[in-house]
Amino acid sequence: MSDETSTSGAGTPSYDPAAEVVELCRELIRIDTSNYGDDSGPGERKAAEYVATLLDEVGIESRLYESTPGRTSLVARWGGSEGDPLLVHGHLDVVPAAAEDWQVDPFSGEIQDGYVWGRGAVDMKDFDAMLLSVVRARARAGHVPDRPIVMAFTADEEAGGHKGAQVLVEEHPDEIADCTEAIGEVGGFSATVRGQRVYLIEAAEKGMAWMRLTARGRAGHGSMVNPENAVTDLAAAVARIGAYEWPVRLTPTMEVLLATVGEIAGVPATPENAPELVEEFGGAARMLGNVIRNSTNPTMLSAGYKVNVVPTEATAHVDGRFLPGYEDEFFATLAELTGENVEIDFVSHQQPWETPYDGRLVDVMTRSLLAEDPGAVVAPYLMSGGTDAKHFRQLDMRSYGFAPLRLPADLDFTALFHGVDERVPVDALEFGARVFDRFLGEA
Ligand SMILES: [Zn+2]
Repeated sequence: MSDETSTSGAGTPSYDPAAEVVELCRELIRIDTSNYGDDSGPGERKAAEYVATLLDEVGIESRLYESTPGRTSLVARWGGSEGDPLLVHGHLDVVPAAAEDWQVDPFSGEIQDGYVWGRGAVDMKDFDAMLLSVVRARARAGHVPDRPIVMAFTADEEAGGHKGAQVLVEEHPDEIADCTEAIGEVGGFSATVRGQRVYLIEAAEKGMAWMRLTARGRAGHGSMVNPENAVTDLAAAVARIGAYEWPVRLTPTMEVLLATVGEIAGVPATPENAPELVEEFGGAARMLGNVIRNSTNPTMLSAGYKVNVVPTEATAHVDGRFLPGYEDEFFATLAELTGENVEIDFVSHQQPWETPYDGRLVDVMTRSLLAEDPGAVVAPYLMSGGTDAKHFRQLDMRSYGFAPLRLPADLDFTALFHGVDERVPVDALEFGARVFDRFLGEA
């Protein structure tokens, strides 16, 4: 059945897309899916089976995929047959939580002060719950979207997605490869700039270069002259890399965002005032300040075993992040900074991506947000970290992050990701479900 009237314009649907969102979010939080970066955690199987049951109850069939026992992802196909399928993906795993640091049990899903508290409340059982609430309400009311929707609930995103999204892309492409567009996490939330709510749609992600630097020299007695000291060479390289001030580089996504902020602040945006404009975002500036330039942070050092022995080798690790379109500049600069005596190899190397901020899907996301929050502004942004989108992009999908939340101006939202006392406002969850329902009806 198609859905022509219920979600267009400012109409109110005959069903309530937000009816279950709060309870589903709490239930998902109560299923501990902590990801320790290996297989020592509880895994995602229980959560995936729960999602399968929720979909099955409204007549939607799903399939579970496991790379290793317990590390389970789910794929389900639903909707009409008009046009190419849209992928909507959310991960089921969460980062671990140290309960003693929290005000509430991180796996209780407690409601306090108008918030749902718990690990995964914003990353990203909130969006998993929104998607399920909307789909179940629509399925029950017979309001199936015209466009085919492929839902993927993945394992292992918090450890790079190698046992989740990557498995789907590499081993089960038949499930998802016909999707031309993808919607995932870390976008669609509001930030407040000078009293104006701005919804940030993720349209790009930085690339990642986790590197090991190795200097090799001549071993010898610590009392003697040694111009080929590996520790000296490595330390100098690390100091240059850590102290380097990467120049401001604005990708198309950030040009649009900063122009939007400039308009609100009443100043034209330029590369020169980009750092000040980013500060207008308050707490979110921690993340946005790093997406107007490449970055390199030295994180680990290791060399030697005795104070009077010069070792043959010294190593360091550097967390490098580069902007879409600036990978060549990043590596050329890095080679200069490291110098000749230091070798670089990769612990992990992932490409950045950027989807042009235009087209029908952008229009629909914007319209859906403005229908629920008429005075707001919508703009794209570039994310400093990585998500499952990096894997799904391998199959040539236009990707965006769109998990809508209307947030209080004084909430330090980005600090909640992987943070202590992670929580999400109840009314933001309900808002998100209503926006996502409009989006799905038109997407
Ligand atoms: Zn996440």
